[in-house]
Amino acid sequence: MTDNAERLEAIAQRIARCTACRLHEKAKNPVPGAGSPTAEIMIIGEAPGEQEDIQGVPFIGRSGKYLDYLLNLIGMTRGDVFIANVAKHRPPDNRDPLPDEIIACKGFLDEQLAVINPLIILTLGRFSMARYFPDAKISKIHGQPRYEGDKVYYPLYHPAAALRNPNLRWDMEEDIRRIPDILVEVRKLRGNAPASPATPEPDSPTQKLEGDDDTPLQQLSLF
Ligand code: URA
Repeated sequence: MTDNAERLEAIAQRIARCTACRLHEKAKNPVPGAGSPTAEIMIIGEAPGEQEDIQGVPFIGRSGKYLDYLLNLIGMTRGDVFIANVAKHRPPDNRDPLPDEIIACKGFLDEQLAVINPLIILTLGRFSMARYFPDAKISKIHGQPRYEGDKVYYPLYHPAAALRNPNLRWDMEEDIRRIPDILVEVRKLRGNAPASPATPEPDSPTQKLEGDDDTPLQQLSLF
């Protein structure tokens, strides 16, 4: 195993033992994240659903199939990226993760980001967007990369939102198709940037916990 893979595995083992919030009580399996330990793109969703809970793998239900399709549009597969969520156990009945549940997982996500040190942090939906774009409305900022240091934060709609609302699919697919160009840009920045460790993760807030509608999130000191 590569060094990164070992470190990610160690984090996954700690996630599996985590009792910091109530979610572990009803979850069948932890869903720490999956993909390439050296990915240039880290995708951050919300929380595992039913299928993810059963198999312990992120984005394998309907949204996951659509995410696979989106990645294929740019010649990628899930093996080329690392996929994680802001909550590592399934919220019961697919409810939104609560602020304290997201806070309980924050350290794990921060550690995964530090290990992978991706070029692109791609947020899916409002929960993960809120880490980096507090108070933003996803309908306004989706598809607008924010370059910062040697990486870029790239907010997208949640695939589930695009599945529910076909009007969003064109935007979603256009946003995805911009990734190769963004990668070219950010690779140049990384080439010119001082060597890792990663840019410190901003302590961004989140509050309202619905992943894909368009209500702006209010800034709270949750992250
Ligand atoms: N939706 C998410 O946000 N994450 C998953 O892992 C599955 C569905």
